[in-house]
Amino acid sequence: MSDTFESQIQLLREAARCAEQYLRTVDDRAVFPRPEAIHALGQFAEPLPERPTEPHDVLAMLHRVGSPGTVAQIGGRYFGFVDGGALPIGVAARVLADTWDQNTAHYVMSPVGAQLEEVCEGWLVELLGLPEGTAAGFVTGTTLANLSGLAAGRNELLRRRGWDVAESGLYGAPPIPVVVGADAHAAVRKSLSLLGMGDAHTIVVPVDDQGRMRIDRFPRLEEPSLVVAQAGNVNSGAFDPVGEITERTHAAKGWVHVDGAFGLWAAAVPALAPLVRGIDRADSWAVDAHKTLNVPYDCGIVFCREREALEAAFRASASYFQWSDQRDPMRYTPSMSKRARAVELWAVLKTLGRDGVIRLVEQLCAHARYFADRLAGEGFSVLNDVVLNQVLVACRDDDETRRTLADLQTSGECWCGGSTWKGRSVIRISVCSWATTRDDIDRSVRAFVAAREAARSNGGVRR
Ligand SMILES: *Cc1c(COP(=O)(O)O)cnc(C)c1O
Repeated sequence: MSDTFESQIQLLREAARCAEQYLRTVDDRAVFPRPEAIHALGQFAEPLPERPTEPHDVLAMLHRVGSPGTVAQIGGRYFGFVDGGALPIGVAARVLADTWDQNTAHYVMSPVGAQLEEVCEGWLVELLGLPEGTAAGFVTGTTLANLSGLAAGRNELLRRRGWDVAESGLYGAPPIPVVVGADAHAAVRKSLSLLGMGDAHTIVVPVDDQGRMRIDRFPRLEEPSLVVAQAGNVNSGAFDPVGEITERTHAAKGWVHVDGAFGLWAAAVPALAPLVRGIDRADSWAVDAHKTLNVPYDCGIVFCREREALEAAFRASASYFQWSDQRDPMRYTPSMSKRARAVELWAVLKTLGRDGVIRLVEQLCAHARYFADRLAGEGFSVLNDVVLNQVLVACRDDDETRRTLADLQTSGECWCGGSTWKGRSVIRISVCSWATTRDDIDRSVRAFVAAREAARSNGGVRR
């Protein structure tokens, strides 16, 4: 038996011990690191080491200094951004996959990576009710998934007009009208700018009180346009009327891309069908597995009804490439080298099954409603219709809301982000982790009440 990897085996055991300690304590410690823990992070800021350090000591330092400096995103009382927890099987599968260290650009680099991508593609297309044969590309997150879907759509619309972007770029290309909702996610704007389709050429459709595109204000499209709809407003969780948007866009031979970072998972849940009606008629979709599905970071997926359009956007060639008649994962993404992120996605889907996915999403929704009801009962204002996992909360006035949030964020009891909604400051709650329980929410509600108390009595600084 070779002992080449003996030291790695020892290190993995130590890492597992550190992980165990972390998991046993993470739910009891402050959700956001205490000032001492953040101060201690300064220990990392040393000059570049000239000499080697024992790996054992490196790992020990990482755990001693690094672990207390983490935000407890995997715990039950983190409600910031839309981050999602990490299901245990996802983390475990990832450890194994990281040990494999597969580059999955080509099939010949990793038959297992390619096979699991193909299986996930098929399962997800079925689970989300997308058209049979839809292609999937596995990327770092929805930002890249949006970029990928929009690149495919833009190039395909231009190809139909006789223009080859790979050949001619955008110089002199016929302009493609772009349509987004006023509440489109920042990632959409970023993608459009990267794709050479700036804000000035984008038609912005006004939204309603929940942030949904107003179909009565949707432009009359005269030519094939690139339209971005949203399944899950990053503040309110609301869904654009994707079916109607698609109907109008297709009538003018356009392309609809759906940004469904956390909301597209609703398409797996029969009880949420009204939110996603007609979504299967779109042309491309972006979703994160690391949000609602609780797969570890980073795992996003682009889906494209026309496989050829997605492949065309990422075409590349070199004499050393080795294509096969199997799936070559780099055909479907902007990256070439990439880790085998379908491994933990597969493991989570296999573990949950369709029923488990449905239960996970329903649990997040039920907890969000419970959170909203409890806070309303305590005199907070809930400003959105809680249709998914997002809750927008306000106090008496903006000042009190901001000071309550500031106190909450340092309380260690729970963590929420802030935002503005229809001109008002809000506390933004995203219930996004499998680990959240009703007890976690009850405890968090008490923290909200205490934070508001502190805001009222002494300017929001807990003494
Ligand atoms: C999170 C999010 C994104 C960006 O996704 P990343 O995974 O952070 O790249 C885009 N759109 C919406 C609606 C989101 O919630």
